[in-house]
Amino acid sequence: MTKIQETFGSLVFNDTVMRSKLPKDVYKKLKATINEGKTLDVNVANTVANAMKDWAIEKGATHYTHWFQPMTGITAEKHDSFITPDSNGGIILEFSGKELIKGEPDASSFPNGGLRATFEARGYTTWDPSSYAFIKDNTLCIPTAFCSFDGSSLDKKTPLLRSMQALNDQALRILKLFGHNDVTRVTTTVGCEQEYFLIDKDLYEQREDLKLCGRTLYGALPPKGQELDDHYFGMLDKKASDYMRDLDEELWKLGVLAKTEHKEVAPRQFELAPVFTSSNIATDHNQLTMEFMKKIAKKHNFTCLLHEKPFDGINGSGKHNNWSMSTNTGVNLLEPGDSPAENAQFLLILTALIKGVDEYQDLLRISVATASNDHRLGANEAPPAILSIHLGDELNAILEAIEKGVPYNKTFNKVMEIGVDILPSFPKDTTDRNRTSPFAFTGNKFEFRMLGSALSIACPNLMLNTIVAEELQQFADILETAPDFNKTLNELIRKTIKEHKRIIFSGNGYTDEWVKEAEKRGLLNLKTTIDALPYYTSEKNIRLFTKHKIFTVDEMYSRKEILLENYCKIIHIEALTMIDMAKKQILPAVLKTQKEMTDLILNKKAVCDCFDCSIEIETLKKMDALTKEMVAAMTRLEEENVKVDALPTHEAQGKVYATLILECMADLRKAADTLETLTPKENWPMPNYTDLLFTE
Ligand code: ADP
Ligand code: MG
Repeated sequence: MTKIQETFGSLVFNDTVMRSKLPKDVYKKLKATINEGKTLDVNVANTVANAMKDWAIEKGATHYTHWFQPMTGITAEKHDSFITPDSNGGIILEFSGKELIKGEPDASSFPNGGLRATFEARGYTTWDPSSYAFIKDNTLCIPTAFCSFDGSSLDKKTPLLRSMQALNDQALRILKLFGHNDVTRVTTTVGCEQEYFLIDKDLYEQREDLKLCGRTLYGALPPKGQELDDHYFGMLDKKASDYMRDLDEELWKLGVLAKTEHKEVAPRQFELAPVFTSSNIATDHNQLTMEFMKKIAKKHNFTCLLHEKPFDGINGSGKHNNWSMSTNTGVNLLEPGDSPAENAQFLLILTALIKGVDEYQDLLRISVATASNDHRLGANEAPPAILSIHLGDELNAILEAIEKGVPYNKTFNKVMEIGVDILPSFPKDTTDRNRTSPFAFTGNKFEFRMLGSALSIACPNLMLNTIVAEELQQFADILETAPDFNKTLNELIRKTIKEHKRIIFSGNGYTDEWVKEAEKRGLLNLKTTIDALPYYTSEKNIRLFTKHKIFTVDEMYSRKEILLENYCKIIHIEALTMIDMAKKQILPAVLKTQKEMTDLILNKKAVCDCFDCSIEIETLKKMDALTKEMVAAMTRLEEENVKVDALPTHEAQGKVYATLILECMADLRKAADTLETLTPKENWPMPNYTDLLFTE
């Protein structure tokens, strides 16, 4: 075995470990729980817990924790040690099945959006055996779901698991119609490409905005940005490549399939792509990836920025969510096949996705809506806030031919009959891929590109899964009772294309023409989180989530409230940080510069009246005017920020934050950034954009 093979998964209680550490019958029962969701009896749980503990202790662990994903978007853990006192004043190391299965962290400090009154603060975590336990920081981490005592979900994992189940149920019905009786499980798969910035830690420490908000709130553009395109896929400097190697190794130990590392478009921007896996595990792994990116960065004297828009005027960071479905027999359901039946099935699933994305544009937009991602959607490289699907020329032409009932003339000269004819082949890896599309078919998977880099991928995936489950259910309902299967299938596909083709768009999504065209087509353009969130609890969406048992109505309202509250808090903190920096750092610096300039003028005049000092005086005047502007903007922001905080609901607050407060912040920034360009570097109180973006 090579070193990598030995390292890979060495800190994971994975299938190989289970097989070797558990008695055969226990292993079998555990597998049934993992694969079929069967409940685990206490004796089995005790045996598994004990084996886990022995294995973990062997690997140096002293503690265990239920590892869960509350609505904060990051993971939470509460550590307990394995020690239990024995009767002789010593200790023994224990871990019971009960402790493995259920935990009771105090839930009162996690966001709940009004779901639990604080006096009823108890929540509990339950083991998710479909994601392997692992060791991190000498602690055995047990992936768990997190619920309130009445069973309402308070986390990101529970609804994701529910959505995977919903999709499985409906996809199996469709597969049966095509004769695949051997398939017993359909799993959604995800591979998400994670972008991030890596900047010098000492410089980071000198920026209050980066430390408190994760992004720069001030900063004049440097003379050079990304216009030379000299960073993308460029050679890695030694420090960055050492970091990546270290990161890969740590992730491999945890069984994360970190695969590709490269430089991205912006200076100091990088990307890590893993090999895809089930959505559930991909979600856990992405959380671990983000955590380790930050942790390992410190060791290399870097800070890893996961914010969607750390620097104005420079590309932001996203996360491309590559999504597909695969069967337990190893078939990717978005892979176009070679036989008529396979192709018919592919086309049906493809049209289900088209219909779903069209009907639930709002939900997909909401699934990526945060205050920080709002800076990115629509700016620079990022997909616009409008949902549309890119299929590629070939597939477009095929769908068009099917819709119109005309021959797809490149290969046939007759009208295609789905389920009878073979789909004409089309290039799977189209190199002219449309990078501007928010939702693109890339040969055998869909790539959802609107996700922000800091986002948990749970929400976009649970929404995607639920939407597809709904469409497959509608299709299965029709097809199961069809007297003539092929005829009904043909009609269904054609009708769906006709009704939902408005969502298909192949052009450049970043242009103003597309915004106008999309409006004509009646597509939604929900520019901000605040524009998008009201749609969360529309009648249509409540129907969807309750029907598939993903959310209760209360859970939906609570999630909307959490997102609103979070939006308001983020902007509120940013405004306060800007004011603080303006008062304590920027204003003193520009006043000092003006004093130096005044002294200079006076001194020059003292030497000789013949000096007219016009340059100094002009600069001084400019600085004085800008300083007044800056103070006015700061005062206004301060006043408005207090007023908005007093509004009664987060909904009302959000509307003001999204408009007036962001405008005041922009005004303040504009004045301060212009002042930066007039202030000597040694007087500027923080590292500038050139320092941050061009220090390796
Ligand atoms: P591309 O060149 O299209 O970006 P890659 O092979 O680099 O393709 O894959 C990009 C990401 O898509 C990777 O994380 C990969 O694991 C993931 N991916 C590939 N196939 C699938 C699939 N069937 N389901 C989900 N993700 C996938
Ligand atoms: Mg990609």
